[in-house]
Amino acid sequence: MARTPLLMGNWKMYKTVAEARAFAEALGQQSQKLDSRIEYAICAPYTCLHVLRVMLPAHVHLGAQNVFPEKEGAYTGEIAPGMLAEFGTKFVLAGHSERRMLFGESDQFINQKVKAIVANGMTPVLCVGENSSQKEDGVTKEVVTGQVLQGLDGLSADEVASAIVAYEPVWAIGSGKTATPGDAQEVARAIRAAVAETWSDQAAEGLRILYGGSVKPENVASFVQESDLDGALVGGASLDPASFAAMAEAI
Ligand code: PEP
Repeated sequence: MARTPLLMGNWKMYKTVAEARAFAEALGQQSQKLDSRIEYAICAPYTCLHVLRVMLPAHVHLGAQNVFPEKEGAYTGEIAPGMLAEFGTKFVLAGHSERRMLFGESDQFINQKVKAIVANGMTPVLCVGENSSQKEDGVTKEVVTGQVLQGLDGLSADEVASAIVAYEPVWAIGSGKTATPGDAQEVARAIRAAVAETWSDQAAEGLRILYGGSVKPENVASFVQESDLDGALVGGASLDPASFAAMAEAI
């Protein structure tokens, strides 16, 4: 089964509405660099979703960086999955390492978010990855496959086949260091094997796996050409429209 490549930006807590508008305008002017056979998405701060929905080129989808796994209620400051879906949001990140580390999110809570995202018709992007001491201890594959199995727990095989996992070594995020494409491929292969064993071969074949961690225009192609990697999740280098367009052109 051919998996559609995906280039996804994660803006984190960057950009005002005015800056998001300027990004969308500039990307629109370079839209000839976007290939209709590839999917693109920007996971933006909530406040930028509206302007992006109106202004982004048609095949650049909206993504959110977080969600609270309840339909509604007294959860001050949180955003419900239905609110994001109503907005035309296609993708939602769950389990980004910054949320795991800074906000203490557990695998169980992340799993609740994944299930809520799917139940509301959106696509979860489950972020997983080992930290530097786990890498040194040689337990990367165990850590990562454990996060994947817990994060996707309770989904059907069809739901897993439509989901996305972003493999992002924690030590590579925002550090300028990357995994080697070969190492990232090995981890992606282990993820697919664990999914095949737990759900089905079809689920494993359909699941898209992105690499994330200091991806930029110069290195994006080296990851995406690996057989088990289907795209990239990009933080810093997705903030500049010229750099986003250059990555789009490179893959
Ligand atoms: C990220 O935020 O998911 C990320 C991978 O960041 P960066 O590309 O800046 O390392």
